[in-house]
Amino acid sequence: APRKLIAGNWKMNGVGAALAEIEAMAAAAERLSCDLVLCPAFTLIERAAGLVRDTPVRIGAQDCHAQPAGAFTGDISADMLADAGASHVIIGHSERRMAYAEANEQVAAKALAAYRAGLTAIICVGETEAQRDAGRALDIVVAQLSASLPDGATAANTAIAYEPVWAIGTGRVPAEAQIADMHAAMRQHLSARFGMEGGQMRLLYGGSVKAANAADIFAVPHVDGALVGGASLKAADFLGIAAAA
Ligand code: 13P
Repeated sequence: APRKLIAGNWKMNGVGAALAEIEAMAAAAERLSCDLVLCPAFTLIERAAGLVRDTPVRIGAQDCHAQPAGAFTGDISADMLADAGASHVIIGHSERRMAYAEANEQVAAKALAAYRAGLTAIICVGETEAQRDAGRALDIVVAQLSASLPDGATAANTAIAYEPVWAIGTGRVPAEAQIADMHAAMRQHLSARFGMEGGQMRLLYGGSVKAANAADIFAVPHVDGALVGGASLKAADFLGIAAAA
């Protein structure tokens, strides 16, 4: 199994004062046996990247535009993120799929832009509660995965984050068997489409991960890490999760 990847999604939280948390995470990172990526707001990326330069911690963004440049007021390109010091970018988070109606095809186009800029894409998928209740979770997520990944995805340039929408920020976590079934289905799809690369692509779980449940989640087959929201804001919480990996 690959080294686990623990990624923190700060969402729309944090100004300069919060960089002290990233500094504390970076100071502890050398002793960890997992990879750490922090994805703060655009405004903090350059400063955060400077802080972690000589540490194993990497910095990511939470979105990018599909085009390399142009008349797209307010948007940020993958090249700009790389230039600011980011190495990763979260793409297709459910909050963006919902608030900005981002469709799978757009997610795939953004992932391609990320690859062209040399970034690793963390591509998010996940079912709603209604879809799970209807017994459609596996089909929905595999279909999202199929349409959200461009050709050219590899284990090096792509990680997948399975984030059930109903588990995000709710304190609710799927049963271990539900995570296991989903990750096995995703692995099967990825191996069929991408061969060995698909077999090695890291599959993260996201949604209400905290230090107290991390070890159980990381023990599930085909869980290669986590995408963490609320519990990534404070170094103590995030390092508690990383210690379980
Ligand atoms: P929480 O960890 O706060 O539930 O958020 C998960 C998430 O959306 C990470 O991208």
